[in-house]
Amino acid sequence: MKSRLIDFSKYSSIKIGPILEVAQIESEDELDTKGYLIGGCNNMLISNTPPPLKMLGKSFDFIELKESILRVGCATKTGRLLSFAKKNDIANLEFIAKLPGTIGGMVAMNAGVKDKEIFNIIKRIKIGSKWIDKEQIEYGYRYAKLGGIVTEVELEVKRGFNKILQDELNALRANQPKEPSAGSCFKNPDGDYAGRLIEAVGLKGKRVGNMAFSEVHANFLVNLGGGEFEDAIYLIELAKERIYKEFGVALVEEIKIV
Ligand SMILES: Cc1cc2nc3c(=O)[nH]c(=O)nc-3n(C[C@H](O)[C@H](O)[C@H](O)COP(=O)(O)OP(=O)(O)OC[C@H]3O[C@@H](n4cnc5c(N)ncnc54)[C@H](O)[C@@H]3O)c2cc1C
Repeated sequence: MKSRLIDFSKYSSIKIGPILEVAQIESEDELDTKGYLIGGCNNMLISNTPPPLKMLGKSFDFIELKESILRVGCATKTGRLLSFAKKNDIANLEFIAKLPGTIGGMVAMNAGVKDKEIFNIIKRIKIGSKWIDKEQIEYGYRYAKLGGIVTEVELEVKRGFNKILQDELNALRANQPKEPSAGSCFKNPDGDYAGRLIEAVGLKGKRVGNMAFSEVHANFLVNLGGGEFEDAIYLIELAKERIYKEFGVALVEEIKIV
């Protein structure tokens, strides 16, 4: 079985983690390999002692367009799919422009912006070697109950890439911090915003070591340079504790702690 040496302080979007050997899955027969599956690590915080890790390799990095069906391998990066959509004038993928990661990671997180989520355009997903219709999958805000590794997705294709919509969605990003992060740290609780609650308990801008809740957007836990896993966890626990005490709201992490 192939493997790849990854320095997680470079590979992960939050720039934290050790250098580790990660198993590379190149065929469906290898999907059962022991370990925790990673995608592009854009929604993940990796500790110094994670379980064995695995990832989908190159054979799952592909895009095929046949008439009105778009099939995408789950190791494919969102940037590649966006370029493909632009080049082939495909609609409804404009929102992935600012969502770093792989298609597998997007499906698992039901990633999206506002009311545009990847599950809106999914027809079927392939888990292991079995195709499953979207209707049979439980999914919601930033989660999907997959029960396995998703290797391919089938998306509904409509013509007409909308550049104006892409620009509008990109503009929403103007208030995002520039420092490395893993995207939103917590899911928004029902009817409220995690960022508002973090600010309300006085933690906007709170820094421990070289990690901080961003001054720009409090729900982004940012790495100010050489930030460490322990400091990130300290801040996450501190926010959860204070918000629960003050508002009775139990925040749930959006980022995966591994
Ligand atoms: C600056 C920034 C901004 C962001 N903005 C947004 C945003 O607006 N909206 C949003 O939704 N997200 C946002 N994110 C988060 C991130 O872009 C998405 O969650 C993305 O889909 C993660 O993809 P990934 O490949 O990096 O997944 P990873 O972080 O590697 O993994 C995330 C989860 O998916 C699982 N997973 C990965 N691949 C598969 C697979 N093939 N089968 C089954 N499970 C799998 C992993 O086990 C893990 O549990 C942002 C991140 C950053 C850094």
